[in-house]
Amino acid sequence: MTKKLSISSFTPVSGQSAPDAIVRRLTDAITSGDLRPGDKLPREDELAKSLGVAPMTLRNALASLREFGLVVTTRGRFGGSFVASDVSERLMEAARTSSMTAQELRDLTDWRRAISGEACYLAAERGTPCDFELIQRAAVEFLRCAADLGQRRMADASLHTLIAEASRSADLLREEIQIQEKLNILILSQPTPSLAKDTPSMRHDTLISAIISRNPEGARKEMLAHVESTYNWTSSMSKAYRK
Ligand SMILES: [Zn+2]
Repeated sequence: MTKKLSISSFTPVSGQSAPDAIVRRLTDAITSGDLRPGDKLPREDELAKSLGVAPMTLRNALASLREFGLVVTTRGRFGGSFVASDVSERLMEAARTSSMTAQELRDLTDWRRAISGEACYLAAERGTPCDFELIQRAAVEFLRCAADLGQRRMADASLHTLIAEASRSADLLREEIQIQEKLNILILSQPTPSLAKDTPSMRHDTLISAIISRNPEGARKEMLAHVESTYNWTSSMSKAYRK
């Protein structure tokens, strides 16, 4: 039996304990697609070292992640800690219990305009051919899992995170990851996921071609349109207005 992941697990809390901070960082890594379902986590001593925490602190954090059902640990020769294969369902389940007010949705959209719009501008300016290749691959992956809302959300988060990464701004990247987490909550809590299919907000082709053709102004414009159509789509069918 796994514990329910609460909304507070997604929300940055000031003065959070070290295990909470690690849970957050690992949840971030899962949200942004750095860690995928079934991925093996590094050995505990290596992971503790790379996160700059004591092994005991890491063990506590892993115990929480296991409780939430995000990580599975197995014993034996091929044992270790793995990202749960149903991690997107787990995150979806967590999202279902939450809702956003109309004002919060507008605030999120405005924040996203500033961060993702600028990240997109800079990605067109500073991105490398390797970044562009990864972005294109992520777009293909997004289309591949179009039928599954949970998987598609993860693929979309991963695509937007890669764009922010191509901006070469660590601060924009950090904020983009936070935005994507909020979008997980928003999109995965939609009461009618079937309506999510084939929406214009889910298209990325013009956005990506503006980035790749190194058209910063055009890329920002496309991103703002993408952000606004996500806003229109979610606010039209969201329970955001229930409150
Ligand atoms: Zn998108």
